[in-house]
Formats: sequence, C-alpha cells, structure tokens
Amino acid sequence: MARIAVGGFHHETNCFVPARTDFEYFAAHRDRPPLVRGPDVIKWLSNTSFALSGFLAQMGSAHDYVPLVWASGGAGGYVTRDAFERITGELVGTLSRGMPVDAAYLDLHGAMVTEDFEDAEGELLRRVRAAVGERVPIVISLDYHANVTPEMVRYTDGLVGYQTYPHVDRKETGQRAAKVLAAVISRGRPGGRALHKTSFLIPLNAQCTMMEPSKTIIEKAARLEGGDVLNVSYLAGFPPSDLYHCGPSVVVHAYTQAQADAAADALAREVALREPEFAQPLLEPDDAVREAMRIAADARRPVVLADTQDNPGAGGSGDTTGLLEALVRNGAQQAALGIFCDAEAAAAAHRAGENAEVSIALGGKSGPEGVMPYAAKFRVARLGDGRMRTTGPSVGGRDIDLGPMALLRVGGVSVVVSSKRMQAHDQAPFRHLGVEPKEQKILALKSTVHFRADFQPIAQEVLVVLAPGGYVADATKYPFKRLRPGVRLYPLGPEFAGPR
Ligand SMILES: [Zn+2]
Repeated sequence: MARIAVGGFHHETNCFVPARTDFEYFAAHRDRPPLVRGPDVIKWLSNTSFALSGFLAQMGSAHDYVPLVWASGGAGGYVTRDAFERITGELVGTLSRGMPVDAAYLDLHGAMVTEDFEDAEGELLRRVRAAVGERVPIVISLDYHANVTPEMVRYTDGLVGYQTYPHVDRKETGQRAAKVLAAVISRGRPGGRALHKTSFLIPLNAQCTMMEPSKTIIEKAARLEGGDVLNVSYLAGFPPSDLYHCGPSVVVHAYTQAQADAAADALAREVALREPEFAQPLLEPDDAVREAMRIAADARRPVVLADTQDNPGAGGSGDTTGLLEALVRNGAQQAALGIFCDAEAAAAAHRAGENAEVSIALGGKSGPEGVMPYAAKFRVARLGDGRMRTTGPSVGGRDIDLGPMALLRVGGVSVVVSSKRMQAHDQAPFRHLGVEPKEQKILALKSTVHFRADFQPIAQEVLVVLAPGGYVADATKYPFKRLRPGVRLYPLGPEFAGPR
C-alpha cells in the first residue's frame, strides 16, 4: 500500500486573445467541474471522463490518497498571477501538510502560460518537487496539446499524454499514468529522460489522430513502450501559446539514458519524415456554405461546417458572426449553428418568451478586429436552462451548466445560444433546445477537431471554414515574442525569424 498525493490543474493558454483567465473562472461550474479541494476532488472526479478518474480506477482502493486540488480552466487568455498563485499555493500547501507521501500524480494540461511564467507547468512541478524532495516519484498526464518543456521532463518520473484528438481517451490516459506510477513505486525513479522538440509547429486542424500522419505516429509511440521504457509520448502542441518551447514534442522516460535516447530518436525521426503529410484544405465562409448547400441538396445526412477559428476549446470567444452571416446571406435552409455564446442575447430571449420576435445584435462583442454583431429580427424558437448531461464519446457523462439558453431563428438558420462558452463537441446542447443534429441539412459547429468524435459519425461530409475568430489557424500571423527562432511556423512553412 502506498500513500499517493493526487491533484490536477488544467489550462490551455491562447496568448493572442485579450481576455485573461482569472480565479473566478477556474472556480465556476461551467462545461466542467468547478475547482474542488480535499475529499471533494475524489467525489467530483471519480467516474468522469477526466484522466484523474482513470488513475483512481486503475490504482484502486488498495492505496491511501491525499487529494490536493483539481481545477480546469479550459482554454483562454493568459492565466492571472492571482489565479496561478492561489491554485498552486493551495495545491503545494496541501501537499506539504500531507507529507510524507510515497508518490504524487498530477492531471495537467501542459500548455498553461501565466502573467509571470511562460512554462507554468514547469514552475508548478518545480514547486511540487521541492515539496516532496528527491526520492518521491512524480508522474503526470498531459493533454495531446501540451507544449512540453525540459523542466516538465526533468521534475517528473513518468509523463503520458492523450493519444487521441478528438480526446476520447482521457480516462485511459489516467490508467496508463497509474501503470507507470505503479512501476516506478516498485522499481524506483528511472534514470533516463529524453525530450525532442519538433522543428515545426502543426496547426490544430492538421493534428487529428483519426487522420494521417498523426494516426501512425501515435501507433509507433505505443509500440516503442515496454520493459525498461516507461513511456514514449508524442504530444502535438498548442501553437498559440507564446513560449520558447512551443510545439510538438517526443518525451521518453526509461531506466537508462541510452534507452530513453534510442526510443526518442526513433519516434522523432518518424515525425520529421512525415512533415509534408500534415496539411488540410480550408475554405472561405461563402465558398464553404455554397459547397455545403450543393452537397446537402441530395444528401441524407448533414454537412458539417467547422468554424475552426472560433473554437472556445482553443481560446475563441464563441460569439463571432462570420459563418452565421454567410449562412443567412446564401439562403441556407435547415441549418443549425452552435454553440454561440451570448449571455445578453439569451437573457433578452428569456424576457421575450418562446415564439416571440426579438431584435438582437447577436454576438460579435469580443473581436477580433472586423467582427461585428449580427443585427436581425430573430424568432425565439425554444428556451432552456442550460443544465444537462453530455452524451458523446469525447466529453460525455458530464453534468454541465451553460446558463440560460435560447434557440434563435433567422431565415433558414437556427442558432443555439448559450450564456457560457462551450466548444461544439457534444450533441447534447443542441437537443437541449429541441434540435436533432442528424436531421439538419447543415450543421455549423464552433470547434476545430473535437466535434469529429460526436458529429463525424452522423455527417455526410466535413468542411473546415476560415471565418475570423480568436484561434487563428495560420501561425505566421501570431505576434510571438518568446518562440525559439528557427522553428518552422507550419509544416514546410517559413522559419520564425525572432520577435518583430
Ligand atoms: Zn487538447
């Protein structure tokens, strides 16, 4: 029996959107649990689709747990100093009071940038290592979009990442972390560690593991694990995080340095050779809508339009209007768009009541430059309280609270409006407002890749659309200040020359 400290702290920081992510955002119950502490960590996180849940299930009841803090802020702008220090302070403080422990496991994202630290997980792990000392093993799990740094590798004894994007294996990742930790508890801390940073960034829409080349890269990583090699992880990175070590990584922990280097070299070589294969066509909004209408005319399943740059899961505001405008302008029929975040519009719809007509300037309140509210007369087709349980393969089984919701109709387009941001990666918020996704001709989704888990199986075809939004797909447009010079900004793209 071991005494194991467990906790979690997630954020995926898009450094190029203006809004900061504060403590209140982490503390609120939104499309994921609120910040929880002590025994509530086990209560809220058991039997969910998060990595910590899989970890606890795999380790079982034979161990003693010291639950610390678990908080997930999704994706958004810089994490404030206040939020980082309060959450980290509480996590490390609880850990220090809970000493001695035999091991620690943390469920992290790996792309957090704060007002003070470009590598926030590296700083968190430095403090955790200082609290537990040199002999206690630390194992972490990370999101597939982690920007792994040398500090994150140095302070840990095992590092496993999601192997899917859309992420449908969060729980399995926690189970894999538990197996690595169990091995380290019985054998001792491993002596070998390796980190390779890829020489190019990969845009999110080209990172999907349902497609090549990511699919076979992940399979190869899994084949290289075993025996003295504890973990071989490929993490695709989150491009809009401004840090020196932004971008894809290969990470290995093994019992000897030679074993770690050999596995890391083999996988890094594979990623480098596949560089030309990371590419995907992107369409302008009007072209995409017209193409969708053409396909939908004699299709029995909906055509999905991915509003890739307004993905709340990558820091988008969820309220940009470019794709909505194109749908109405081109006369699309039986089209549904979501999840569109506008608390004021939802409140106005609730005041007016179902079946009322309301004039609303919808969305367009958060930029980027050039995005305007969409002013029109809408019919309030349906109202909802925003409380539901998700159902899809990626984020299913979560009790979520999106605040007051409304289905607003304009022309042949129904807009699923929420009061809190959520990426369109689950069908439940559509059904909450009486919209059956598979019965639509066109489904416009504010998501980059995650929608594919729940929506691709019902789709006739998927088209990726470049309407303006907070997650800019083209990394050559990012005003990087800290990225390492020489890295290519997209596969086969130009090298980053340094800050302008
Ligand atoms: Zn991710």
